[in-house]
Amino acid sequence: VSTWGAVPQGPPDPILGITEAFKADKDPRKINLGVGAYRDEHGKPYVLQTVKKAEEAVASQGVDKEYLPITGLAEFTARAALLAYGAESEPLTKGAVAITQSISGTGALRIGGEFLARHYPHSKVIYVPTPTWGNHIPLFRDSGLEVRHYRYFDKQNVALDFEGLKSDLLSAPEGAIVLLHACAHNPTGIDPTPEQWEALSHIVKEKKLFPFFDMAYQGFASGDIARDAFALRHFVAQGHQVALAQSFAKNMGLYGERTGAFSVTTADPEEKARVDSQLKIIIRPMYSNPPSHGARIASAILGDQALYTQWESEVKGMADRIISMREKIYNILTHDLKTPGEWGHIKTQIGMFSYTGLNPEQTQALAQKAHVYMTKDGRISMAGLNAGNVEYFAASVDAVVR
Ligand code: PMP
Repeated sequence: VSTWGAVPQGPPDPILGITEAFKADKDPRKINLGVGAYRDEHGKPYVLQTVKKAEEAVASQGVDKEYLPITGLAEFTARAALLAYGAESEPLTKGAVAITQSISGTGALRIGGEFLARHYPHSKVIYVPTPTWGNHIPLFRDSGLEVRHYRYFDKQNVALDFEGLKSDLLSAPEGAIVLLHACAHNPTGIDPTPEQWEALSHIVKEKKLFPFFDMAYQGFASGDIARDAFALRHFVAQGHQVALAQSFAKNMGLYGERTGAFSVTTADPEEKARVDSQLKIIIRPMYSNPPSHGARIASAILGDQALYTQWESEVKGMADRIISMREKIYNILTHDLKTPGEWGHIKTQIGMFSYTGLNPEQTQALAQKAHVYMTKDGRISMAGLNAGNVEYFAASVDAVVR
């Protein structure tokens, strides 16, 4: 008998399952709105011009393939921290941000989960929004934290449930950890307003909660790096100590290069050094040290004024293309087709995703009748839409809601 005879079959990944069904569909009109990866106006994966230039620059420097240090390329993490926290940030200017390179955003969250489980003194409980990126839940659980939920989405109005959110944070145990999507909330595409962030900062302070920001979309949401960092920078300016997971998957299109960073703001350089030492102790037995290629590319872009300026406009180009698709769907549904229902949320939501408000029966009908694939909660990846398919998409939505 086999040693593994009793291993049970696990459930398929909900998003990769959609890709399978999409691939098997032979209809030329088919659209995959499941996976969260940017597509250009022809529906093709997109490599940024600045990434190509940075790759050439890196290659011309004749870099070797030696190991990076445990916490990665120091030049990259310094630039990543500056991008997130901003030049004005007090912990940054006084040398009190402990930071490590990570295996993209997922790896940053995991290092953060492990670090908090070991060293955060006040609680082992982490609150995540309902709904949240699906991977948050197993990821924090496997890190040794207890995952609880705060209300976030008002299904009735396809809007932020701000009262529910405040009330759940106010009734959380003092000292609990709270995971906040820094911008472009996945899956809803709904973010708090700056005023709402200010109110949340007060509650977090009052309840002595510990804010852990997941920033997977800096620049990708609004097209503006600083604007998308508002929540993080506001919390830091208000004197909160924070943890931060950064990803360069979306804003540099470095998905498969696994480029990210995890950081914690500390009291002073001496405390930072102690935290850094513990990050190394967590990372070393997991994967020793991170991959170098993506970090070199990101560092080259962030560290060169001309490349940085061009990158900013490329990020804005991606964000703007998505924003224009939002307007287009809204206009077709509301004005051209007079589709029943209220569709304003598609235009006001932000980032890679939109929660359409379509229900599981409707999403199933879209897949079966119109070859349009999305997760059954009605979430669509906006990047999958373009001038060539947006009208077909809107007409298909119109047909299933009538
Ligand atoms: N957090 C959120 C909210 C995300 O949407 C994603 C990507 N889907 C990630 C983290 C991590 O992505 P990656 O590991 O590719 O950087």
